[in-house]
Amino acid sequence: MSKAGIYLHIPFCRSRCSYCDFATDVYKSAEVVESYVSALTKEIENFPTGKTVDTIYFGGGTPSLLSPAQLDKILGTIYKNFSVADDSEITMEMNPATVTLETLKSYKNLGLTRASFGAQTFDDTELRRLGRKHTAQDVRETIELLRRADFANVSFDLIAGLPRQTLKDWTRNLDEALKLQPEHLSLYLLEIHEATPLAEQIRSGRQPLPDEDLAARMYELLLEKVSVKNYRQYEISNFAQPNFESRHNTKYWTLDAVFGFGCSAHSFDGANIRYTNEPDTAKYVEKIQFENSAIVYREEIDAASEFIFLGLRLMKGIDLDEYERKFGIELTEKYREELKRLEDLNLIEFAEKHLRLTNKGSLFSNEVFAVFV
Ligand code: SF4
Repeated sequence: MSKAGIYLHIPFCRSRCSYCDFATDVYKSAEVVESYVSALTKEIENFPTGKTVDTIYFGGGTPSLLSPAQLDKILGTIYKNFSVADDSEITMEMNPATVTLETLKSYKNLGLTRASFGAQTFDDTELRRLGRKHTAQDVRETIELLRRADFANVSFDLIAGLPRQTLKDWTRNLDEALKLQPEHLSLYLLEIHEATPLAEQIRSGRQPLPDEDLAARMYELLLEKVSVKNYRQYEISNFAQPNFESRHNTKYWTLDAVFGFGCSAHSFDGANIRYTNEPDTAKYVEKIQFENSAIVYREEIDAASEFIFLGLRLMKGIDLDEYERKFGIELTEKYREELKRLEDLNLIEFAEKHLRLTNKGSLFSNEVFAVFV
C-alpha cells in the first residue's frame, strides 16, 4: 500500500505577481512568519500521531523565505509526530533571488532532497510583465547555487502562453531551460484568474488576451524538445529525467493520502474525505490558537470516479488491479459500454494492465473524464 504525503503551505511572498490567485500574503515581518510557524507546528502536533509518510512538500507562497531555524522547527515537529520513511522525498518550492549558498547548504543539511523553483520565463521583459521580482540571471544563479549546495534533484516551473509571447520567445525560453539540465520540468499554460491585476490589465486593453492556439503550438514544441533531451512526459504538465518523477505530486493523481497543514492547505484521507483549511493567514493562526483546528470545509468524494479521471492524467494511466483492490469491482466490468465506446473512438487504450488516454484522447481529455463523473 502506498504511503501518505505531507503538504505544508507557506503563504509569504516578497511581492505579489500579477497573475497569482494562490493564498499568499506579502511578507511583512519576521514576527508574522514566526507566529505562523508556531501555528503550523501546533497544527502538526494536534494531528493523530504515528502515520507513515514518504514525501514532505513545502509549497507556497515562497517557502524559501523560511529561515533554516524555522525549517528545522517544522521538520523536527513532523519527525516527532509521523513515522518518516528513510528514503523520503522532501521538496521545497523556491523563488529565484530568495536564497543564498549558506541558506541552501543549511536546508540540505536539514534533509531537503529536492528543490522546485518558479523560473517561469527566461525573458526579463516577460518577467516584469508578470510582476516577478527576479531576473533571468537570478534563475541561472539560483540553479548554480543549488548545484554547489549539492541538490541533485531540481525542478523548474515554466509558463507558456504569456501576453505578447511569440513562438520564437518560447523556443528561446525552452532552449535556455533545457541547457540548465534540471532533472524535472513542469509546464503550465497561463490561466487568467478573475480578481488578479493581470485580468484587469487585459480587461483595460493594456495587455492582449493570450492566444490559445499559439499556446497549444508552444505545448507541442515543448513535447518535441524534451523528448530529444532524455525527459519523459509522465503527466499532462510534467516531465522528468528517468527516476526523477515527483513522488509527492504523483500521490494526488493516484489518490493517496496527503495531509495538508497551513492556511488554505487541502487534505485527503486516502479513502473518501477531503478537507480544506482557512485560507486567510491571520485567521488561520487565530483558529489554530483558539480552536485547535483551521478546517473550514469538509466533503465526501466519489473516490472511484476521482481515481479514474485523476489517474488518466498520468501517461501510464490507471492500474486496473489497483482499481479492483481499492473499490472491489473490475473497472472494465463497471464501465463496459462506456469503455467500448471510448475505445472505438480511439480515445483510450489498454496496455500492460493499465487504462490510459491515447494521443487523441489527450486532446479531448475533458470529454473522456466527463464519462466517469
Ligand atoms: S511567487 Fe508564486 S505564490 Fe508568490 S505571488 Fe508570485 S506566483 Fe504567487
